[in-house]
Amino acid sequence: MMFQDINTIVKYYETKDLSTNLKLLQACQRGEPNLRELSYLTVDEWERPREEFTLVKKIGSGNFGEVYEGLWRNTMKVAIKVIKKDITKDDDFQKEVKIMKQLNHKNILKLYAVSSIDPYYIITELMAKGSLLDFLRGSEGRSLSLPELIDMAAQVSEGMYYLETSNFVHRDLAARNILLGEHNICKVADFGLARVIKDEFYFSHEKIIPYKWTAPEAISHGYYSVKSDIWSFGVVMYEIVTYGQIPYPGMSSSEVFSKITSGYRMPRPQSCPDVLYQIMLQCWNIDVEDRPSFCELRWYLDSHLNYEDASL
Ligand code: ATP
Repeated sequence: MMFQDINTIVKYYETKDLSTNLKLLQACQRGEPNLRELSYLTVDEWERPREEFTLVKKIGSGNFGEVYEGLWRNTMKVAIKVIKKDITKDDDFQKEVKIMKQLNHKNILKLYAVSSIDPYYIITELMAKGSLLDFLRGSEGRSLSLPELIDMAAQVSEGMYYLETSNFVHRDLAARNILLGEHNICKVADFGLARVIKDEFYFSHEKIIPYKWTAPEAISHGYYSVKSDIWSFGVVMYEIVTYGQIPYPGMSSSEVFSKITSGYRMPRPQSCPDVLYQIMLQCWNIDVEDRPSFCELRWYLDSHLNYEDASL
């Protein structure tokens, strides 16, 4: 049988069987295309003129600035983080921007551009569902099944594996720093450039180290490595399987550090299968070398913990 075009084929098979009792029903929803850049014109550029951006509405705020939904050249939706200049070191900032602009992975938040006049703008892709932590705590997040939760953890491990192979240590991996897009795609955010901005706060002004997420050797000696990111990943897994519970419930940050160094680990959350809990414990191994790698975690979460295993 010959058809004139695709639409005619689809229309035809909505009423006629494709094979016995098999008809076309509803079309799949088409997701937003995953853009790599603002446009092909900006591929090799990171500095953009301020006039190209319009702030549309505020969607969040952190310790270092406010985040807006915005527009590039009045057409393309973007996220714009507005930062006060006095907390950035120009050289480090520009160096980090150049590196980050090269990164490209489906599970890493894409940096599109910066506009470095006071107040600085950091322009990234816009993630429709905001932070993973808020999402998990909301009604949509709380209705996710275990396999869907595991898929999120697997996506984070994919993104972290890519960062690792790009020689990046994140140093602040936590559910609050993972952003969620359509179809629950997870992207690791708040690394690199964000670190340049945060470092001054973490290590000079306020010392607001996120103790509950940070590996003991990083807290005590400042030894940050991919293995300290692995420790934090274990805590992210805890946050994911508990739908956004604060880790070490009821404990203060300083209490957590002293308990961890004397061997304490969070107990298995009620709804967490033992296989998953064992992975968390491996991530929290005091011996850095005995922690798994992101490559192993990614493979394990992707292939071993398939749907049947996850319900065990
Ligand atoms: P910190 O000050 O430690 O960085 P934070 O990570 O919560 O804290 P921001 O990175 O400024 O702070 O983000 C604040 C909120 O803005 C996030 O929780 C998220 O809801 C929203 N947000 C940030 N970036 C984006 C983005 N690219 N797309 C959509 N929402 C975003």
